[in-house]
Amino acid sequence: MKRKEFLKKSALSAVAGVAGASTLMSSCKSDAAESSSAGINVNSNKKINWRMTTVWGKNFPVFGEGANLLAEWIDKMSGGRFKIKIFGAGELAPGLEAFGTTSEGTTEMGAGASYYWAGKTPAAAFFAAVPFGMNAQQVTAWMFGGEQEGYKLWKEVYAKFNLVPFPAGNTGVQMGGWFNKEINSVNDLKGLKMRIPGLAGRVLEKAGGAAINVAPGELYTNMERGVIDATEWVGPYHDYKLGLNKVAKYYYTPGWHEPGTQLEFFANKAEYDKLPAEFQEMLLTASMRVHAWTLAEFDARNGEFLKKIVDEGAQVREFPAPVLKALKKHTQEAINELIGSDPVANKVYKSYNAFREKANEWSTITEQAFYDKIQKI
Ligand code: CA
Repeated sequence: MKRKEFLKKSALSAVAGVAGASTLMSSCKSDAAESSSAGINVNSNKKINWRMTTVWGKNFPVFGEGANLLAEWIDKMSGGRFKIKIFGAGELAPGLEAFGTTSEGTTEMGAGASYYWAGKTPAAAFFAAVPFGMNAQQVTAWMFGGEQEGYKLWKEVYAKFNLVPFPAGNTGVQMGGWFNKEINSVNDLKGLKMRIPGLAGRVLEKAGGAAINVAPGELYTNMERGVIDATEWVGPYHDYKLGLNKVAKYYYTPGWHEPGTQLEFFANKAEYDKLPAEFQEMLLTASMRVHAWTLAEFDARNGEFLKKIVDEGAQVREFPAPVLKALKKHTQEAINELIGSDPVANKVYKSYNAFREKANEWSTITEQAFYDKIQKI
């Protein structure tokens, strides 16, 4: 895909336009028969038409494609009785209104990542990405293994907004971003103007930098014109498509700010509760399949595109340990501020952090030993 075409597809959220209210109001709801007289949601003839609005552009690589796959698989599983029409950012509503329109029931489903909604509930930050937090495997374990503590908390927090969350994959460890100068010490972060959103942006500011909000479609020109000195985006696949390797020389690793970004679908809870039980099960089953596909797709594509990036002259650099240590200290300060002001966020963080400590002990003697002792031989 060419950069221009990719940019069109990546027209995310805030930059996208508003659709006509009439389109929004003509919501297609269930037709066909009612539930059985026993009051159980069982009706094999019931036909459902839902609409999903996403924070990504239509068909956006991996993120948007995952939403398309969810719809395709549910259509097949239900024998065409449960259809979900996918809309990109700006088609029905601006991307960053996906949470709101689905919460109100104007759309039955939405897709995004929960940190976009941290302004509505600070706890949401912990269901997407936490700087120096858990990676994809660990987040999946917290959410869907053992007592499913993470998923239970996620559902509890979203229920207050009349929403039910579903997994939609994980990006894996992201890259630390593109820089026009080397980062050799914490002093190099002072005055650094970087596009880095959310909690991580606050961390950079504590380290003396400036977190600048730039829409993905404007990252290339902002870097080219020196409006910003650095930017993070996702990983080699998406960064290459955006042309970031043409506007900065140094590609830093690891993505301390997004070690395992969890993606999501969410359904309007009232509409979800009305679904026949078999359709509810299909939603979760197809979501889990998207969850597995997304991480696999990222890992496969990122390996392929990292090679292109390096072959075309970018230099991969590692953040020095003292820089990461300083950023970690500032991360804890930022988290303490966040949870200190919100009891729900505090409750979620306690669960997240206790799980992270246990998971790290296990990962150290298995995953880390694999990378250190096996992969390097
Ligand atoms: Ca990112």
